[in-house]
Amino acid sequence: MILVLFGPPGSGKGTQAVRIAEMTATPHVSTGAILRDEVGRGSDLGREAKPIMESGALVPDDLMVRIIEKRLAEPDAERGVVLDGFPRTVPQAEALDSMLQRNAREVAMVLYLDVPVEVVRERILRRAAMEGRGDDTADAFTERMRVYERETAPVVDHYRAIGVAIQRVDGSPPIDEVTAHIQEILAGSVAGVRTGRAGQGS
Ligand code: AMP
Repeated sequence: MILVLFGPPGSGKGTQAVRIAEMTATPHVSTGAILRDEVGRGSDLGREAKPIMESGALVPDDLMVRIIEKRLAEPDAERGVVLDGFPRTVPQAEALDSMLQRNAREVAMVLYLDVPVEVVRERILRRAAMEGRGDDTADAFTERMRVYERETAPVVDHYRAIGVAIQRVDGSPPIDEVTAHIQEILAGSVAGVRTGRAGQGS
């Protein structure tokens, strides 16, 4: 199952994605984590991406599409993936659609973690203090929210238009509550999800 986890920066996508990957026994694919790894290794890609990421802007679509194409071709992605942070623009979503279509695959569901902007701002600034991520400054946050609203939010409309199921989840409650809600949704719509609560739908 190819699942797209969608939401603003700081909505808890990374945390929930790890849990969903475990529930669905598919790998967690975070484009942010892939890029941070490249930055850490000082690769050509990392050197190109670093200043872009620190400013809160988006890395060019063609680069991101190549990264995802390579990752989806790996054997562990055959059963599906949990996509976290991709697609982040409509062109990326369209590129993913054609990539999947060529292999007779499709996005099964979009899980949309909905969190008010004030809550995500507070979370991001707290994470900045704890983890020291270069893109968690107040200025970068403002830019990331602007980019989210302008470039990323329309991705949901894209999926709605092509008939992909979109499940909205309130991302404001404590982490475990959000996970429980996601678990109910997955148990209700996908066979074989490891919920320990088989048969309970949402
Ligand atoms: P994230 O960890 O998903 O918040 O990503 C951190 C940063 O990596 C973003 O602010 C972007 O600069 C870059 N990035 C991650 N995923 C993408 C993507 N799909 N398209 C463009 N840039 C991305």
